Amino acid sequence: MERGKKVERMAPSRDQMVRMLKDHGISVTQQRLVVLRCLLEAPGHPDAEAIFSAVCDRDQVISRATVYNTLNLFEGKGMISSLDIDGHTHHFDRETKPHGHFLCQRCGAIFNFEVSTEALQAALPGFRITKQDVYFKGICPACQKDGVRVDDTAAS
Ligand SMILES: [Zn+2]
Ligand SMILES: [Zn+2]
Repeated sequence: MERGKKVERMAPSRDQMVRMLKDHGISVTQQRLVVLRCLLEAPGHPDAEAIFSAVCDRDQVISRATVYNTLNLFEGKGMISSLDIDGHTHHFDRETKPHGHFLCQRCGAIFNFEVSTEALQAALPGFRITKQDVYFKGICPACQKDGVRVDDTAAS
């Protein structure tokens, strides 16, 4: 995992994507491969609309409903995770290992950071955790360099 950086991924090969789908019990279709490629190539933590517009650039035949359903399928099978850090948009995340998120309230960028799962489990003995969100908000280093004070921004 890249710490404190926006996640940029390399273009995956078709074989890698086929393996990803099969490893998660998802049958391989051409449409799923297109959606998966757009998901993997999108920068940061894309929302469904960003993935849909990337899919459109590549293949106009796939409907918005198909893209949304495919993303939900991927998430349901545990191939991707999601976050609602800004309170209104469902962002998808290709990193499924537990990690925290920092939302910059100035530029809107979402950063990953590592969290200690052991500490969380120790704090919740006997609980079965099905979803784990650790959200921090503030101003990223680049935006602080621009001379923006935290209290100058509209907190969401
Ligand atoms: Zn920022
Ligand atoms: Zn993430």
